[in-house]
Amino acid sequence: MKRMKREGHVCIIGTGYVGVATAIGLAELGWDVVGHDVIVERVRALALGEPPYRERGLASMLRRHLASGRVRFTEQLSEAVTGARMVILAVGTPGNDDGSADLSALRRAVDDLDDFGIDDAVIVLRSTVPPGTTERIAKRLQYRVPVIYSPEFLREGTAVHDVLYPSRVVIGGNDDEAIQAYADLFEHVAAPIVRTSSIEAELIKGYSNAFLAARISLANEVASLCDALGADSTAVLAGIGADPRIGSSFLQPGIGFGGPCFDKDTRSLIYVARRAGAESAMLSAVLAVNDAQPGRVLKILEDELGTLSGTTIGVWGLTFKAGTDDVRHSLAISIVQILVSKGARVRAYDPAIRTNPMLTKCEIVTEPLAAANADALMVLTEWPEFRTIPSTEIAGALRRPIVIDGRNILDAKALAAAGIRYRGVGRQELPRTKAPHRVAGEAVS
Ligand code: NAD
Repeated sequence: MKRMKREGHVCIIGTGYVGVATAIGLAELGWDVVGHDVIVERVRALALGEPPYRERGLASMLRRHLASGRVRFTEQLSEAVTGARMVILAVGTPGNDDGSADLSALRRAVDDLDDFGIDDAVIVLRSTVPPGTTERIAKRLQYRVPVIYSPEFLREGTAVHDVLYPSRVVIGGNDDEAIQAYADLFEHVAAPIVRTSSIEAELIKGYSNAFLAARISLANEVASLCDALGADSTAVLAGIGADPRIGSSFLQPGIGFGGPCFDKDTRSLIYVARRAGAESAMLSAVLAVNDAQPGRVLKILEDELGTLSGTTIGVWGLTFKAGTDDVRHSLAISIVQILVSKGARVRAYDPAIRTNPMLTKCEIVTEPLAAANADALMVLTEWPEFRTIPSTEIAGALRRPIVIDGRNILDAKALAAAGIRYRGVGRQELPRTKAPHRVAGEAVS
């Protein structure tokens, strides 16, 4: 193995959510960064200051660093890699049908680097990978360059912030010089460095996501029992979360967890455990609860309306969470598809979505109250702006006064006071203090 370089830029391969946030974060920390992606249009747009996804403040930071020359993007791998001190791989690792991680993009990126003849930079895997992958990549490169693993824990919606203010920087590997060179990038970040073997770092990432997913499934199970017993899960979960050993984050019931990470990373761990002959009963239960959750929320709607066929359902929120335009594995989209398959007409509003190829049979409107012109309204993403819409205006827009709050974010009392039948997840129904309005010819429940 040659001595590694201690000068030169940082190269980032894969400029999606993680790659772009990492590029901008490192530029904010004062490093020169060159990004590369196989999607030529993505590279060209980035070079013009247009990020591939929506996140508050991202475009302005990108443009600032492009203008200063701290960040560049190129379609040419050779240009991105030549002179780099470090190559960070942030390509996608989606799930296969059997739960295993699809590492084909990672293998291709590594083979491209190998063909190019990289031999004096540190290679850092930042993508989420199953345990053992870093070692296999090092072997694939015949141990000619150090390969280390540093998982990314960012949350979409606050991605650059999370790169700059991480709870910890986990670095796995056995090459001290390479680990130090990577840790130096985060010298001015106030977070502990957690140093482990590469396989331990891979397990830290996988189980961190599985743990958060488990909390959400537990909260959904609490909500289910609260519904059955006539208790309010909001109060119960607040009381549980007040214990500092437990905490309140990721302890809210709802439609279930979606997005590009929790489901596929949990499935990947189950796959790895099965192959290794280890237990994963808990992870399987986490997924089983989550898979059933959209059906539970839809059942509340069906109980209210009797049948969905021929109804119009208003939907607030399509993205998998607020603050992003990401709809990968969005359970909101799954629910819309089920509604359409059951004969409902869907009118949806999401502040970040104007069209979506998965929603050909759904009308996407540009105003929240236009979506509420329906037989019932479902809240499927926790966008804060939904809380600011007066209950009286929601009541005025609805044809039948029914709101199913799949995220428990609306003010139940205010809605009840406006005459709306409010149903949350694990929340008790409040008596309506105003008579529901009637639309000519329509029955009111
Ligand atoms: P993404 O799909 O948004 O971006 C991946 C990018 O890699 C794409 O632009 C793709 O074109 C590019 N790419 C694929 N093969 C390439 C190659 N050979 N050369 C150059 N570019 C290539 O994915 P993402 O959401 O940024 O996730 C990346 C990784 O980070 C995944 O492993 C994911 O699990 C993990 N992760 C994601 C998040 C998140 O919130 N999105 C958070 C933490 C970790």
